[in-house]
Amino acid sequence: MPIRLFDSLSRDYRELRPAQPDGLFRFYNCGPTVYAPAHIGNFRTFVVNDLLRRLLELEFGKDKVKHVRNLTDVDDKTIRRAREEGRPLAEVTRQWTEKFHADCAALNCLPPHVEPAATGHIPEQIDMIAALERRGHAYRTEDGSVYFKVSSFPGYGALSRVKERELRVGSAISGKPQTHDADEKEDGSDFALWKGHKPDDGDTFWPAPWGRGRPGWHIECSAMSKKHLGDTIDLHTGGVDLLFPHHENEIAQSQCCNGTPFALHWYHSEHLLVDGKKMSKSLGNLYTLDQIKEMGHSPSALRYALLAGHPRKQLNFTLDSLHAAEKALAQLRAFRASLAPGGTADPFGPALAALQDDLNTPHALGLIFTTLHAGPAGIAPAAFERILFALGLDLTEALKPVANTPPEVTALAEQRWAAKNAKNWAEADRLRGAIADLGWSMLDRKDGYTLEPAKK
Ligand code: AMP
Ligand code: ZN
Repeated sequence: MPIRLFDSLSRDYRELRPAQPDGLFRFYNCGPTVYAPAHIGNFRTFVVNDLLRRLLELEFGKDKVKHVRNLTDVDDKTIRRAREEGRPLAEVTRQWTEKFHADCAALNCLPPHVEPAATGHIPEQIDMIAALERRGHAYRTEDGSVYFKVSSFPGYGALSRVKERELRVGSAISGKPQTHDADEKEDGSDFALWKGHKPDDGDTFWPAPWGRGRPGWHIECSAMSKKHLGDTIDLHTGGVDLLFPHHENEIAQSQCCNGTPFALHWYHSEHLLVDGKKMSKSLGNLYTLDQIKEMGHSPSALRYALLAGHPRKQLNFTLDSLHAAEKALAQLRAFRASLAPGGTADPFGPALAALQDDLNTPHALGLIFTTLHAGPAGIAPAAFERILFALGLDLTEALKPVANTPPEVTALAEQRWAAKNAKNWAEADRLRGAIADLGWSMLDRKDGYTLEPAKK
């Protein structure tokens, strides 16, 4: 079954397939702004994109998917943070990039094939801005900035239908530019391609034909997707807040520069909420992965909780959802331990099909648990592994902290965990003794266990 996904541009469900004859599926996902730890709302978006990446690999083959996710390592927020801390910009963004990588790994997200950083692609961005200027889509202002002239691109607003919205509130009819800031835009909807250097930017600037400065946020994604995926890509994704203006502006820049369609499919996942409000740094209502771990929950439980809601519906985050996730993971673990090697049946086809049908994770999880309740008899362990891979659920997570655990100890621990989940206390005690005889102790947690060398 092909993957079918809602497309924000055509507002319809469409099948995903590579458009180019080389059969490579080109996938661009807007990445994080690296000035602080990403919150679990951000991670909802990245986990959903990781699910997509895994489904694409299962569908087209591991080497037929190219996944690019950028790092926004220069913008107002990163510069402000570096200034406040009195540290070089590159040092601040390196710190938060490393933290982002560690959190992604803990959440079992596959790393993208290319992770370009905005500061590593300044010449590409300058080239694109110069091309836009040559073609009459951009103009310079006195302060050394360059703006995109929105009125030069008739297709503007197709993704967000922003023109209709503007017309409804009457601002466009009045003909007054909607200028909120003291810049020199010709029209309120024009946006910066290049920002002329200001004293607040300190030593963060690059030379350019129109004066020193730094690129605008939108041009970085247009330039980096062009560089790493070419002029036309198969799928472009991000959280729903990026739809306007970021993605609308990317389309305008890329299509006016390249003269070809930019992204053939647009997908936007919905927000994670806390108490009915969007989780965001500005509202201060956020949780980080570290805070979740400090509360005694595992990254796997968070991943599960983030996947439990339909990605195109808002999800209200609660601590109860983490408890439910831990229970579900324990059941999955026990089921895995009870699968016999000789099984050949694959009852997980419908669950995979649910994922392929617009990432319907709640339906898929429901189907998986129906299968679990029917019992493990005859089921191929590989079939279970495949659906776990699709969801990115790492059931061995609790074992990870001790890398040098002997395999026979791990095997006994898995058996004991299964016995405990089956409430077979006598067997669980026997296995604990067998583990101790090998010099290890098994510590039970809510959602799994850890193994440590026994204290002498
Ligand atoms: P940022 O680091 O702010 O550029 O955001 C990284 C990604 O997280 C973007 O795709 C955003 O759309 C997404 N995002 C931001 N807030 C939330 C939220 N509360 N829930 C889900 N995704 C979010
Ligand atoms: Zn982007």
